[in-house]
Amino acid sequence: MRQYLLIIVIAGALYAPRVFAHGGELLFTPESVMQGEPFMVTVKGTDIRDVKTLTFDGKRIPVFVRNGKPTAFIGVDLSARPGKHTVKLLTLDLDRVEKKITIQARRRVTAPLGIPQKLGGNTKVAQQNLVTVLSKENGVLAKVKVTDSAWFKEAFSIPLKDLIVTDAYGYSRETGSYSIPHKGTDFRASLGTQVKAINDGVVRLSRDFTVYGKTVAIDHGGGVVSFSMHLSKLAVKEGQKVTKGELIGFSGDTGYAERPHLHLSVRLNGVSIDPMKFFALFDTKKN
Ligand SMILES: [Zn+2]
Repeated sequence: MRQYLLIIVIAGALYAPRVFAHGGELLFTPESVMQGEPFMVTVKGTDIRDVKTLTFDGKRIPVFVRNGKPTAFIGVDLSARPGKHTVKLLTLDLDRVEKKITIQARRRVTAPLGIPQKLGGNTKVAQQNLVTVLSKENGVLAKVKVTDSAWFKEAFSIPLKDLIVTDAYGYSRETGSYSIPHKGTDFRASLGTQVKAINDGVVRLSRDFTVYGKTVAIDHGGGVVSFSMHLSKLAVKEGQKVTKGELIGFSGDTGYAERPHLHLSVRLNGVSIDPMKFFALFDTKKN
């Protein structure tokens, strides 16, 4: 009996350092993505306290604990180079783990963009003005603070009771000589429909923009920020903590919108990805 125990102990001792010497294993959900899509990295066999850095193409990505494991969300930019890209984990023991993910090219889809009369109609001046104001507003949104550690504990959930996509993420809207990528998803929502927080977080923006209209930005932590736009009414204040499912505003057509709807953008470490693909990361029981 003792001999068996000894063998188990020795086998365990030989096996254990080998696991840690490799610094854990990187798991990707899903295992391949298109330009503009997110993926989740889970580290198996390493404790969060042993993680020094995680990078994607050399860019540092915050790591948080999810279901007891070190986890990170990575957003692939709409204009990312198709092909193999690298995720690297460095542990405090300076062990390195690397895994590649293949990014597929997205088919380029374009559509004409009409400018509503309230924003000047389809004139050259209105087109130029739209692009100028948009870049100014994008500058404000780019500065929205996002926390590395996660405010949330549960999976992300949808912002409306019924989720019907009216305008998908990722195509380009052409106006005059300008091309504006749609970096969010539009959902059907009649005027005054309740819009909910997709997870716990802190409200970083709750204000009116010329193009984006009344907008709520929530810092969920873990590098995730959600933006709800064109709202008719804001129901939260900047700096306020919100919980998943909490009312943050009502849908509308403020700013650049032809009719009431909800535009939702989800940004992962500064990269706006397809919100529907983000929700899909939490579809399985496992996640
Ligand atoms: Zn939109």
